[in-house]
Amino acid sequence: MSIQEHVNAVREKIAAAAKAAGRDPGEITLCAATKVQTDDTIREAIAAGITVCGENRVQELTAHLEANAYEGAQVHFIGHLQTNKVNKVVGKVDLIHSVDSERLLRAIDHQADKLGLVQDVLLEVNVAGEESKGGCTPDEARELAQLAQSLEHVRLRGLMAIPPIALNPGDNIPYFSAMKKLFVDIKGKMAHNQDDMDCLSMGMSGDYEDAIAQGATLVRVGTALFGPRPPMGKQ
Ligand SMILES: *Cc1c(COP(=O)(O)O)cnc(C)c1O
Repeated sequence: MSIQEHVNAVREKIAAAAKAAGRDPGEITLCAATKVQTDDTIREAIAAGITVCGENRVQELTAHLEANAYEGAQVHFIGHLQTNKVNKVVGKVDLIHSVDSERLLRAIDHQADKLGLVQDVLLEVNVAGEESKGGCTPDEARELAQLAQSLEHVRLRGLMAIPPIALNPGDNIPYFSAMKKLFVDIKGKMAHNQDDMDCLSMGMSGDYEDAIAQGATLVRVGTALFGPRPPMGKQ
């Protein structure tokens, strides 16, 4: 199948999952997870209707930006971000999904201040409490949300989560549902700028329909659009 056919198939499934949940399919953004893909593959995906590309690694982001590969689409940073690399990401992407510490949040605010802009961010929550993964605890997310409100150069847009790989359909529903509750709770407690909180980023190739059923507004899909990637380690 071509990328166009994959994009069409994923969009149909997104629409069906949204309708089944009584939601408007237009509320859900499809973000193409483009890690390890070439400039040409990214261009092909954008020509096939992809409007948001999600990049994991700073090095790949920089190379694709230099090649103008994302032209016509938004770019989101969805991978782990080290504090010493914020200058390569802030102001260059529309949304950073992976803010999980006070140090990182302050570093992003500082860099955005230097550039004279406001950077949109999500807080990444380690919803299953996995030791090997980035992301903060739900309680830390509540605190970081309050801090974000007091910083002038970041705009908190919502939350992101990467639950474990689902072994069986439905396995991650409890995690997605917990994220939705946390999202509503944090949004409700924002003293101002509540309306900025419009993004709940969760769901990947194996479970995006379940994520949509639980309230995801953005799904990050790689394999279902581009086919299998080379084994981990290279990433
Ligand atoms: C790779 C990746 C995805 C997409 O994963 P697939 O299972 O290939 O759809 C989504 N989110 C993040 C953060 C990723 O690193």
